[in-house]
Amino acid sequence: MIELTMEEFMLWVIGVPILVIGFYGIIAGLKRRAAIRTAQSQIVCCRVCGHLYRDRSRERSPQCPGCGRANHRGESRRLG
Ligand SMILES: [Zn+2]
Repeated sequence: MIELTMEEFMLWVIGVPILVIGFYGIIAGLKRRAAIRTAQSQIVCCRVCGHLYRDRSRERSPQCPGCGRANHRGESRRLG
């Protein structure tokens, strides 16, 4: 038989569910951020004609369906 004091019992009854809920909350937040990051990486804005389009391929420079120019994904790091 496991002997617990009342404080230890209450710690297990209250503390363990809080830790489990917190753990799943952190995991859900990480999954949500990964999904948002993936969705943002699929949206490409053409730097020539301004056409906004979704490209699901892993190609680094997808072609714009409007003008045919290749565009880099994400924010431009070029100066000027
Ligand atoms: Zn374009």
